[in-house]
Amino acid sequence: MPTDLELRLPSLLPKAIAWVSAQSRLILETGSPLDERGLRLARAVGVSYPEKIRVSAVQALPLPDDPELQSVAVETGLLGPQMIGVTLGYGVYVREGYISNRLISHECRHVHQYEAAGSIEAFLPVYLHQIATVGYHDAPLEIDARRHELDVA
Ligand SMILES: [Zn+2]
Repeated sequence: MPTDLELRLPSLLPKAIAWVSAQSRLILETGSPLDERGLRLARAVGVSYPEKIRVSAVQALPLPDDPELQSVAVETGLLGPQMIGVTLGYGVYVREGYISNRLISHECRHVHQYEAAGSIEAFLPVYLHQIATVGYHDAPLEIDARRHELDVA
């Protein structure tokens, strides 16, 4: 039986894509490029264009204004208070105080996944469908990112 979120996904997706695209552009304009260690981590987890990545350190991950999108983001855990990073295309938000090789390599693996999908518009339907059907922890793209976490650059 499809989950409630799975049923709502078709109407949520356009809003999710618009929000992720806008946030991604914002990070690309205001974020910092990876340092040498970050570039090494990005290459090690398969990113093709590590120099395109920008990282923005924030006190709290931003939430969408749209009430439905916001509640889904928090309920699924994607942007919940326990989350310390999120990757939006080549833009990466990390929470201040939580930056580590492990976190950067995890988020860079998501960048690789966006690259493999080809675009935000192509990545998000697949990723969010996984979240809607098996949940954040068991989503294959999250398992893949966890498997690529590196402690040393
Ligand atoms: Zn992840």
